Amino acid sequence: MERLKEIKVENIKGISKAMIEHLHNHDIYNVYDLINYFPYRYENYEVVNINRVEHNEKVTVVGQIVSEPVFSYFQRNKNRLSFSMLVNDLIIKVVAFNRDFLKNKISNHMHVTVTGKYDKIKKQIIAQKLTLKAQDDYRIVPVYSLKNLKPIYFQRIIKKALDQYGSLINDDLPLSLQNKYRLISSIDVYNFAHFPLNNEQVRQVSRRVKYEELLKFQLKMAYLKHRDRKFFVKEPKIYDERKIIEFINNLPFTLTNDQLKVIKEILNDLKQNYQMNRLLQGDVGSGKTIVAIITLYANYLSGYQGCIMAPTEILAEQHYRNLVDIFNPYGIKVELLTSSIVGKSRTVILDDLSCGKIDIIVGTHALISEGVTFKNLGFICIDEQHRFGVNQRKILREKGNAPDALFLSATPIPRTLALTAFGDMDVSSIREMPKGRKPIKTYVISSNLEDRLIDFMDKEISNGRQVYIITPLIEESEKIDLENAYHVYEKYQQYFLGKYQVGLLHGKMNNDEKETIMHKFLKNEIQILVSTTVVEVGVNVPNASVMVIIDAHRFGLAQLHQLRGRVGRGNHQSYCILVSDYDNEKAKERLEILTRTNNGFEIAEADLRLRGPGDFFGSRQSGLPEFKMADIINDYKILEVARDDADVIVSSGELFTNPEYFALKDYIEREIIDTNELFD
Ligand code: ADP
Ligand code: MG
Repeated sequence: MERLKEIKVENIKGISKAMIEHLHNHDIYNVYDLINYFPYRYENYEVVNINRVEHNEKVTVVGQIVSEPVFSYFQRNKNRLSFSMLVNDLIIKVVAFNRDFLKNKISNHMHVTVTGKYDKIKKQIIAQKLTLKAQDDYRIVPVYSLKNLKPIYFQRIIKKALDQYGSLINDDLPLSLQNKYRLISSIDVYNFAHFPLNNEQVRQVSRRVKYEELLKFQLKMAYLKHRDRKFFVKEPKIYDERKIIEFINNLPFTLTNDQLKVIKEILNDLKQNYQMNRLLQGDVGSGKTIVAIITLYANYLSGYQGCIMAPTEILAEQHYRNLVDIFNPYGIKVELLTSSIVGKSRTVILDDLSCGKIDIIVGTHALISEGVTFKNLGFICIDEQHRFGVNQRKILREKGNAPDALFLSATPIPRTLALTAFGDMDVSSIREMPKGRKPIKTYVISSNLEDRLIDFMDKEISNGRQVYIITPLIEESEKIDLENAYHVYEKYQQYFLGKYQVGLLHGKMNNDEKETIMHKFLKNEIQILVSTTVVEVGVNVPNASVMVIIDAHRFGLAQLHQLRGRVGRGNHQSYCILVSDYDNEKAKERLEILTRTNNGFEIAEADLRLRGPGDFFGSRQSGLPEFKMADIINDYKILEVARDDADVIVSSGELFTNPEYFALKDYIEREIIDTNELFD
């Protein structure tokens, strides 16, 4: 195929200057571009039996004219042609507009082909297409996205190109795989796509192209994983499994099945001779931390230091207290490092860390600063991993000698995206919540119910609870957002003047200001916290029971779900109120998904279906692969098959040793880009 990219369209025999220009206008410069300019759909002109047609169905019929065609003229330069026609055993009426040019060509007794909607009651077709000859019983016409260029001329130039250069088309896909799935050859792909004889050929093109696209993509991912494993060889970790079981039995709760399954996956990684690179995804509150803790324990038993890095001080402190409680009885030394820890105590911590007196350290970005060195870091865990850049994750990793790495994410990614987006990482998921959680009750209300909302908030606060109010953030206009937040803040301050304390949190505050406000909220010195979405990151205020989100339709579903996860963390029944004067059905449909389920995976999948993969990650992460034909939602089954095939081809080493696969290998090596960059 590479050779076809080097052949300019100018080389096609007999191509005109005008055609070259047309092709350039469509970004088609070489023969490869040309033959890969696939139709985006096909028109079906299958000749049907008129007796089997539904009312108002679009059909193509062949028959004989049985009346003198009549032209009638109306308005200025408009005209109407009508005649009767015998189709199968039925006489129907055909009407066509503005066919003046047929005047001296059409006549009684002729055989014609007519395409249009069939009105079964009037026995009449309004013809969209009328051809003065009887077409074969089948025709399928490719539809291309073309500007000022007739499809027929475009097809002709493709035909010429295929005649002249078709022998240079090679097949990346080995015969063994083509046979296994009964896929058509590469040359047939181009012949059938541009010149199909029937629907089946179109279907075969789609099967083959989709599989090839998805296989290549998955091979790329498997290749990267394999390459990384070779690079990041480590000593397998050895520990006494009975101690882990004992540790688990001593926990104050029973682990869920999903937690156990994930722990198994991780402990297995620790025993390998290559570095773990694993993403753990699970809803807010699904219990990811304990998984990290058990891994820390196994890592400790193997004789290594471990660490957890979190994006905020509050979160780091929370983890620290939790870890101290759990690890103290085992005589394991846990420390905290944040940028607020300075002077002597910082020096002591850094010293203890580098000489191995500290077993586990929890911290913020402070952990990746230069002075921080470990004696033998064996495991790193990064909480809320999306809050850190690739570089920051990398720096932390490089503080150890190929430490195992676990990344925690509370943004559930639909299965289908996990396979593509994080194909170079292993992914574990916790889909099941610990038992006994009260689901958050979610309602969608319009803004004219605000009075009742205020009464409700008042009631909850007088019962000792706290409330979040979120105002929207639109990237294009931070200024308006801020005004918005201020406006809401002032409004509620007025309402609850002298009764409750209202606080404001927004992105323009510096970290100290933010943390001060959050601390006040945590200590219930503030009862109502008005905030832009900055509150999203894993804060834990178990006493908060109401989450109000204003103009909810302006948020993505996944984001709304994240925000909702700020409540429902204590024993109190919690509520999420989505305020929205939505103006269309789709917005309504989206918000109602949240009222139906608390499961982040279900929500993510619904969101993906409604918005499509491009929008799902937002524009920032538009690095998702673009496929010509494959669609990772609808073609999920093919994606899975391709993933399994790719894993086998790469891990068996065949990609590198079996000549059948060399074309694919060359393709991948050309294509390799650091996929990590896509997600930062
Ligand atoms: P997240 O996944 O959002 O990080 P956490 O790890 O903070 O969630 O867990 C939320 C709470 O649930 C914590 O208080 C934790 O102790 C508790 N928890 C975790 N696993 C279980 C379980 N299997 N049964 C009961 N409670 C659990
Ligand atoms: Mg967490």
